[in-house]
Amino acid sequence: MSDIETLKKELPPFEIFDLIPQYAAAGQIDPEKIDLLKWAGVYPQRPQEDGFLMMRVKVPTAELHADALRVIAGISEDFGRGLLDVTDRQAFQFHWLRIQDIPEILNRLDTVGLHTRGACGDTVRAVIASPLAGLDAREKIDVRPLARSMEGTLSGNKDFEDLPRKFKISLTGAPELEGIHLINDIGFLAHDVEGPDGQKEVGFDVWVGGGLGAVAHLAQRLGVFITPGEVVEVGRAITAAYRDHGYRVNRKKSRLKYLIKDMGAEKFRELVETEYLGRPLRSGPPAPVARFGGSDVLGVNPQKNGLNYVVLTTTVGRIDPEKARKLADLAERYGNGFLRTTAFQNMMIPHVKTEHVDALVAELQALELAPKATLRGTTIACTGTQFCRLAQTETKARVAGMIDVLEPLHTDLDVPFVINLTGCSNACTRYQVADLGFMGALRGDEEVYNVHLAGSIGQAQRTGTKLKGIVPAERLTEYTDRVLRDFKANKTPGESFVE
Ligand code: SF4
Repeated sequence: MSDIETLKKELPPFEIFDLIPQYAAAGQIDPEKIDLLKWAGVYPQRPQEDGFLMMRVKVPTAELHADALRVIAGISEDFGRGLLDVTDRQAFQFHWLRIQDIPEILNRLDTVGLHTRGACGDTVRAVIASPLAGLDAREKIDVRPLARSMEGTLSGNKDFEDLPRKFKISLTGAPELEGIHLINDIGFLAHDVEGPDGQKEVGFDVWVGGGLGAVAHLAQRLGVFITPGEVVEVGRAITAAYRDHGYRVNRKKSRLKYLIKDMGAEKFRELVETEYLGRPLRSGPPAPVARFGGSDVLGVNPQKNGLNYVVLTTTVGRIDPEKARKLADLAERYGNGFLRTTAFQNMMIPHVKTEHVDALVAELQALELAPKATLRGTTIACTGTQFCRLAQTETKARVAGMIDVLEPLHTDLDVPFVINLTGCSNACTRYQVADLGFMGALRGDEEVYNVHLAGSIGQAQRTGTKLKGIVPAERLTEYTDRVLRDFKANKTPGESFVE
């Protein structure tokens, strides 16, 4: 049994919240318990000896009010040296925190309905809800109430505080626009099927066992069609099956994907039906999936109610707090005061009147957050050596520099081109499912990147092909430029890289 498994048995992980005030008062964390801080969304940043912490904050249903964003900006300024990241699980991340400040930060988050419970650790992580929920005319159902209910039932629940490893859930009501389900432990995709009476019925296709890390597995279909009323019950049953049957000996082989690989989706479905639900689930066809897997929706898009949602593009998720505060003002001035976070490290201002779109776009351009469907909007990078203890290479600054050079050179791309880069094999920013995926590594002291080509969480549903060679860090921009030039020279109009 690994150390963390022993530790979880000694102290129920969510009880770490009770110890945080003591640690803060003493200015010191019990080193034996430090790994349990993850369950409070807190963990040491690199280098650990310096004692600074990072914190991940969940954004339930990916939706937050302008006031909440102001609180986030304030925390970043007051405690985090002005650093603020939007993550690819729709969360916010702070750095440079001290244990002394964690209680005050948690209090401030609480005042605006945000929390960190289960943001990290071996438990149910942030439930990803489509950022388009309730907005896009093409969605089958607004998944926000289901996501809220799922989060309320599973996340932070003591029944699920000790899972074999992290556990990720996503819901979308518009699978033709999003593909993130393929890399989640459970993905719920809404679609409609025709009943015997010829009437359309809306329900969910359920996928299980997706997960990247050093060995990527795309999710598999359970083969069911469940009603919206069954979603939380089925989510709970699958999570419980994983808790009880998932592997706990080797943490590198503990995600649900390994159980599904060994057992098969069919047998796993039987297990869930017989041991956890006590009834069979209705079988059903697959939901249609997105062509590009989520990068389809950038820029300005029409809503079903005649208004517009505007996806603003950050550079690798980093937003300085002053800009975040201005974004909050813009959401109030042009929208309904709410913003959303996306799984591509971007943000969105919904409910914008058509006659206000140009003015909002101009203001976003001035903040260098233009809502454009360009490389900037489809490129993500993880934390890297700046703060991550596992990282082998630098990430965000390097990619930001690359995008600054390449974006103006490739404005003529007529399809999204996804670039995902990580600082190690752990795949926090999913290098295996990008058109061009870079995985950071060290060759001696030199920072290099392995290349994965033509992965996709869109219709192609494939992990990228790993090339034999590596790209030295200083040649990253040049290499990417050559790939893009070659792609554009050899493609037909509208053809994507993976096609
Ligand atoms: Fe850290 Fe590796 Fe994850 Fe990047 S992929 S954040 S370097 S663990």
